[in-house]
Amino acid sequence: MALNYTSKINKIRTFALSLIFIGFGVMYLGILTKKIEWLMAVFFILGLLCIIFSTVVYFWIGMLSTRARQIICPSCDKPTKIIGRVDACMHCKQPLTVDKNLEGKEFDERYNSKDYRKALKEETQKPE
Ligand SMILES: [Zn+2]
Repeated sequence: MALNYTSKINKIRTFALSLIFIGFGVMYLGILTKKIEWLMAVFFILGLLCIIFSTVVYFWIGMLSTRARQIICPSCDKPTKIIGRVDACMHCKQPLTVDKNLEGKEFDERYNSKDYRKALKEETQKPE
């Protein structure tokens, strides 16, 4: 299955990594504008905030991973972690679910949303 979907942990990791780069980029702008002191200060503070935020995100991933369900991917036989009801394998991007009711169904990230599931349920339970 060629789904354009990456596992949540990988997504958040990419996000945290790009934040670090953005932070350094912004600080570099600060060096470029060092003739204007207040602007340099603003860039440095912004850059620092990005980096601090990135550390927070990394910490958050750590918390998520400890709570995530660890399973062996049926596709590539490597251990991967699932967050929520549907997620993708961290290694081969195979869509995985922990919900038996969703097995074999078309992969949809919206299954992670409670409202969406509720709407689905109501639809199937509607009397004729
Ligand atoms: Zn896999």
